[in-house]
Amino acid sequence: MMTIDLRSDTVTRPTPEMLNAMMKAEVGDDVYKEDPSANALEAQVADMFGMEEALFFPTGSMANQAAIKLHTQPGEQLICDQWAHVYNYEGGGVSFNSGVSCKLVTGKRGMITANQVAAHINPPDFYHSPLTSLVCLENTTNKGGGACYDFEEFKRIRNVCDTHGLGLHLDGARLMNALVATHDDPKEYGKVFDTLTLCLSKGLGTPLGTVLAGKREFMRNAIRVRKILGGGMRQIGYMAAAGSYALAHHVDRLEEDHRRAKELAAQLEALMYVSEVEPTETNIVIFYLKDTIPAAHFMAYLDSEGIRISDMGQGKLRLVTHLDYSEAMHKKVLLSLQQYETKKPSS
Ligand SMILES: *Cc1c(COP(=O)(O)O)cnc(C)c1O
Repeated sequence: MMTIDLRSDTVTRPTPEMLNAMMKAEVGDDVYKEDPSANALEAQVADMFGMEEALFFPTGSMANQAAIKLHTQPGEQLICDQWAHVYNYEGGGVSFNSGVSCKLVTGKRGMITANQVAAHINPPDFYHSPLTSLVCLENTTNKGGGACYDFEEFKRIRNVCDTHGLGLHLDGARLMNALVATHDDPKEYGKVFDTLTLCLSKGLGTPLGTVLAGKREFMRNAIRVRKILGGGMRQIGYMAAAGSYALAHHVDRLEEDHRRAKELAAQLEALMYVSEVEPTETNIVIFYLKDTIPAAHFMAYLDSEGIRISDMGQGKLRLVTHLDYSEAMHKKVLLSLQQYETKKPSS
């Protein structure tokens, strides 16, 4: 039986064409900054987002952690949504690596507003509180179900940051999904954010890699911080070439992932055993079962159909569409979801 893995968009494998591009990559020792493929990808991503500099990292967490370090001093505080990846899923790295605390905002679907940011800044002359120095946003939001910010809100948040002298970082693990969904101009991101990450190994389908791009004044120390975090690498051009390949060939097709996610959401919406489906804008579908349906029963059923999804706790179930989720698989999942209607425990 074919296995259909919808746990995350990280489960993809490089396509033969991507592997071919990797095989042909020109490489050098990146610790000497002599890897032409890495240098080319960094220049490409910086240019794409209207940033001055960029640096390749092995993971999104390391790139976010480096950015936080570049923006802050120990004892300071950053502002983020309560569901933010930097707070929940980076192993406590904010405090471990930077000695920084997080002020959590109760946003909507992982997104916060300029007014909320302003309300969470500690008064800088009140020396009893940690000094607020950074705001971290996510686009799309992960735990928020792939939601996309309205670009106008970014501008308003930028204004608040300017007024209070705060840095502004964007966690762009699924930034390309956001750009494809909103048609925002990536160059505008460089005008609003000081630093941003672009993940290559989620929707874009490379084996690894995240690029951190930013303004020169923030990026000056980036290569040293990456070294300290253990991220100084040698012939990474093979991975950078996968990234360049993905940017050329795997961006437009994200629309397909979004269409399939919306079709899954619509299907779930129509089923009796589902209590709620969150709005689906990109490639993540979050839904909840009715109280009478034990999640374990539903998951076991999906397992017997060869379908894997994520249980995020508190009744939250998550499906993520991606490059290796074909139309044939999609048809099968739609059918299996519907057939559970007759197999669910009767109440
Ligand atoms: C996946 C993800 C990251 C980075 O994760 P790594 O596994 O370290 O690459 C960062 N932020 C968000 C929102 C993510 O979804």
